[in-house]
Amino acid sequence: MAISKSVSKSPKLRARRAAASPWVVTADSAIHGRGVYARTFIPAGTKIIEYTGERITKAESARREILRARRQQRGGDGCVYIFELNRRYDVDGRNRGNPARLINHSCEPNCRSDIIRGRIWILAIDDIPPGTELTFDYGYTYAESLNHRCRCGAPSCAGYIVDANHRWRVRRRLALSEARRAAVGAATA
Ligand SMILES: [Zn+2]
Repeated sequence: MAISKSVSKSPKLRARRAAASPWVVTADSAIHGRGVYARTFIPAGTKIIEYTGERITKAESARREILRARRQQRGGDGCVYIFELNRRYDVDGRNRGNPARLINHSCEPNCRSDIIRGRIWILAIDDIPPGTELTFDYGYTYAESLNHRCRCGAPSCAGYIVDANHRWRVRRRLALSEARRAAVGAATA
């Protein structure tokens, strides 16, 4: 799967080895902030890197989400690092020891996340050439997506970070507001 914008032209520049996985390096991303790139060829199906962090309850997770939203409002780091583990617990991966937190969302991802024996893994969907930015579908709900614009650059990008199954709702909303704008424009012309 080719994602033109997600392949950095020179990921080796200022690329840093991630101790947590032999497969990846981190480097500046065209999508957002820093990203994670394939250091070597990664065969499809590879367990590339574990998403590690603090295991927290859903209640603690909700509390931290409020703090995150406040940070974002103040212009600080609004990134979401909380990952759903199961019905009772989440994993907060907001720490430097978890380079997987830097993996960006894409509407045409080359990786997917999976929970294997209580641990969160990022796995390769396709063969991934060296230097390619790794991405996966964050799987946000429609409501969650409203606060998160997507800049993945994929041809099918929905414009917002939202689970593949809910992308049609985002597209419908954008089409409706576009039609409304056009109607207002025609009325005032
Ligand atoms: Zn996108």
